[in-house]
Amino acid sequence: MNLDLFPEDIRPHIIPEPRGELYYKCLGCGAEFPVTRLLYVCSECSQVLLIHDRNAKDLKKIPGKTWQRILDYRKMLKIPALKGIYRYHEFIGPEIPLSSIIYLGEGHTPVVEASPFLREKTGLNFFYKNDGQNPSASFKDRGMASALSSIKYLLDQNLVSDVIAVCASTGDTSAAAALYSSYLGGLIKSAVLLPHKKVTTQQLSQPLGSGANVFEIPGVFDDCMKIVEYLSSRYAVVLLNSKNAWRILGQESFSYEIAQDFDWDMENKVVVVPIGNAGNISAVMNGFLKFLDAGIIDRLPKIIGVQSEHADPVFQYYLEPDEDKRKFRPVDTRPSVAQAAMIGNPVSMPRVIGITRKYNRASGGQNVFFVQVREQSIMDWQLTANKNGHITCTQGGECLAGLVRAHELNLVSQKETAILDATAHAIKFSEFQDLYFKKQIPEAYQIQPDPGFINLPELISPDDPQMVPSQEKRLNDRDFKVFVKDIAGKIAKKLALHPSK
Ligand SMILES: *Cc1c(COP(=O)(O)O)cnc(C)c1O
Ligand SMILES: [Zn+2]
Repeated sequence: MNLDLFPEDIRPHIIPEPRGELYYKCLGCGAEFPVTRLLYVCSECSQVLLIHDRNAKDLKKIPGKTWQRILDYRKMLKIPALKGIYRYHEFIGPEIPLSSIIYLGEGHTPVVEASPFLREKTGLNFFYKNDGQNPSASFKDRGMASALSSIKYLLDQNLVSDVIAVCASTGDTSAAAALYSSYLGGLIKSAVLLPHKKVTTQQLSQPLGSGANVFEIPGVFDDCMKIVEYLSSRYAVVLLNSKNAWRILGQESFSYEIAQDFDWDMENKVVVVPIGNAGNISAVMNGFLKFLDAGIIDRLPKIIGVQSEHADPVFQYYLEPDEDKRKFRPVDTRPSVAQAAMIGNPVSMPRVIGITRKYNRASGGQNVFFVQVREQSIMDWQLTANKNGHITCTQGGECLAGLVRAHELNLVSQKETAILDATAHAIKFSEFQDLYFKKQIPEAYQIQPDPGFINLPELISPDDPQMVPSQEKRLNDRDFKVFVKDIAGKIAKKLALHPSK
C-alpha cells in the first residue's frame, strides 16, 4: 500500500528511520563495546555478549496500542527490506539502514493449528509455527538475516572488507550461513565446519550448493565449535555461530510474530522450544521481554524448553531447585534423532541463565520450565504429527513430546494454547524416518520402531515382467493397455476399491 494511504497519525512511523545506538554488553563482567567492532566474546573476560540499544526507552514514547497498529499496518508495505524480520526494525536492528538489509524471504512463517486428531489425542490446544518454511528450511535464517545485514552494514561503511565467515554447525546453521553469504557474492566467502556423518544428506547438500567451503571434522558438534572458536580468536574471520550476538537479535522475531499472530494477546499462551546451543530459547524469551517492556504485550507467555535425555545439559542444570546451588556441567551427548539439538556444552548457557531469571522475575513467578523427553517419544510424536497433516522435523517432534510431558507434569492445562516451534522442515531430517520405517535405527538411539507407524513403498509389477514401459522402448498400444489394466486391477484390489456406479 502507498504510504499516503496509511492513517495520518502513524504515517511517520511506518517506514523506520535508522536510529538508536547499539552496543555489545558482556554477560560476565558487564563491559561494553561498540557494534562497529567484529566481536563475539568479551575481550576482558571471554564471556558471551548480548546487543542492547542505548535508546531503548525512546520506544516507550509510543504507546503499546499504537505500536500494534504500526506493526499491523506495516504488513501492507511492499518494501523488500521490511518484508522479513526487519518488519520489527526498531526491536531488531534500529541502527541498520534499510539499504543494508538482506531479505531472502525469511520470517512470517505460518502458524498452523494442530489437526483435530492431534488435539484429541493430546487433549491439548496447540499450533505449530512452521519455521521450516524459511528459505533454507530452518529458523536459523532469522538469525542469519540479522547477522549478514550487520556485516553488510559494516561493508557499506568500509569498516570491513574481504570477509571470511565461518561457523560450526549441526547442519542448519551452515545451510543458512552459506545461503546468506552466497547472496552477497564476492563480498563475503563462507566456510562451514560440520561433524563428520552427524548431519543429514540434505543438510550437507545445502552449503555445498551455496558454494561454501565445507569441512567435515571427526567428532561431534561441540568439537567443531572448539575449532571455530580457536580460528576466530586467532584469525580475521567473522563468526556466524549463535555466539554472534546479532543472531540472537534476528531470532527474537519468532516471538514478535507470535505476539502479532495472536493479536497481541498472550493470556494463557505457552511457547515450546527445543534446546541445543540455547541461542534460540534465549532469543525467544528476550523478544517477549522487549515487547512487554514497550507495552506491546501486557503479559509474558509461559516458556517450555525441551531437551532429549541424550543431550540434556540445560535440563540437568535446572533440576536443582535452589538457584544458588545450581552448577553448570557440560554433558557427553549420545546419538539423538533431534540431531540439530544434540549439544552437550551450549554456547548460550550464560544467556539462558541470565534471561530466564529476568523472565521469571518479570512474570511475577516461575514462568519458564525445562522438560526432558525420551528419544522414542520424539520420534513417535514427530511421525504422529506428520501423519496428521504437519511437516515437522525431529526437533518439532521433540517439542510435541515436550508438551505432552509438560502436561503429565501439570505444567500446562487444557485452558492454555501452546505454540510449538517446528524449527526445521521435515524433509531435512527424513533420514531418521527412513531408518525407523526400515527398522534400521542404530541401537544407541534407543528407539524401537512401532509397527503402527511403519510405511514403505510397494512396487507393483505386471504379470509379465517383460511388458513394462520404459523410456528406451515404448510398449505398443495393445501391450500398454494390457499393462494399465493389469496394474490398475492390482492397486484396486489392494485398496479394496468398489466399482463405480
Ligand atoms: C539449531 C537448531 C535447534 C537448536 O537451537 P539452539 O539455538 O541451538 O538451541 C533446534 N532445531 C533445529 C532444527 C535447529 O537447526
Ligand atoms: Zn566480560
